[in-house]
Amino acid sequence: MNHLLESNSLVFILLIIAIACGWLLGRFQGQRFSLKRSARNTLPSIDFLLAERNDKALDRLLDIEEISDDVVELYLNLGRIFRDQGQTEKAIQLHQNLFARTDLSFSAQQNVELELATDFLKAGLLDRAERLLLDLLQEGGKSRNSSTQSRKRAACLIVQLYEEGRDWLPILELYNNSKLPELSDLTVRIAQAACEQAQEEFKQGNFLESHKYLKQALKINPLCARANVIFAEVAASQGEPKEAVRCYLKAIKQDPHVMLPILPGMVESFNKINDYQELDKQLAQHWQGHHRVEVLVERVRLLVKQGKQQQAIEILLSELLMHPSNQGFFALVEVVVDEKVVLNTSQLMVVYDILRRIIETEHKYVCRSCGFKANEHYWRCPSCKNWASISAAH
Ligand SMILES: [Zn+2]
Repeated sequence: MNHLLESNSLVFILLIIAIACGWLLGRFQGQRFSLKRSARNTLPSIDFLLAERNDKALDRLLDIEEISDDVVELYLNLGRIFRDQGQTEKAIQLHQNLFARTDLSFSAQQNVELELATDFLKAGLLDRAERLLLDLLQEGGKSRNSSTQSRKRAACLIVQLYEEGRDWLPILELYNNSKLPELSDLTVRIAQAACEQAQEEFKQGNFLESHKYLKQALKINPLCARANVIFAEVAASQGEPKEAVRCYLKAIKQDPHVMLPILPGMVESFNKINDYQELDKQLAQHWQGHHRVEVLVERVRLLVKQGKQQQAIEILLSELLMHPSNQGFFALVEVVVDEKVVLNTSQLMVVYDILRRIIETEHKYVCRSCGFKANEHYWRCPSCKNWASISAAH
């Protein structure tokens, strides 16, 4: 009896919920219907604009009496769809129609301007893009209410525009006139623009100008290792190897990854000042920290040059045992052959061990179709899914 009562009340509750749901659904649909109707009276719908072949539909935006920020956002999304689909002209038309309106809020107007500039960039109309972006940066600087977000985007776009045209001076001019917002990504790029300009001045023999831009690069981004690399190259070309070494070492301290590209220049400058001890120390330190075999090989060459063949062999054997590499092994063979070094039995055992480790790291199979490397054979490549494309690597 009790049980029946419980199940009856459950049915009753479910019934109430069902009625409530039906009522809510009806109300919601009614609302949607009325929204749709009012929208149709004022705005062409997104679906209509997307489907419409006749571009005059886009001009209807001009006839709408009032336009809210939300609606602008909706049309900006539509414009992006056009642009992404490669319909740049249609995107431009849409954005220009919005741009021509005088009743947009300041932030909506800025967003429209940004989208239009992006359209122009995509269409290769660089002059027009440049004008709009400069305008945006100018407005952003003047108005307190300006959306910093659109100013940041405008700054990134205009720097990109100049970068692509290899126009470094306008970037620096914007920076000098405090037109660019402070963004870490942008700071790195502006310092690189200063380095590019310095490099060009250096190529033309304008050493003082070159120095000016390099100093600016380091002021903009104190971590810009490239500036010190160019400082070093300028010094080396001026017959100042000591200064060159100082700048190369500064650059490595800022960013150890510049070691490989500067290695030949740095070794040359060290050779000129005959400071083999310091060079050896630098190379050993870098090898311990980063294990770039080129650096180890350079160190070994340096030792051989100083007549320290046995030390060079010992270093190569012990280091290659821990970090086996083809290039290192090749350097080892080179020293043994060129210097006619005779290896003892325990050294030969180490050579054997190094070679075994190098072979272990090599892959036995490779996919002819995508280059996928494997240690076992597959009938179907796990990467590109082609059948019977795996064959022996050598
Ligand atoms: Zn494959």
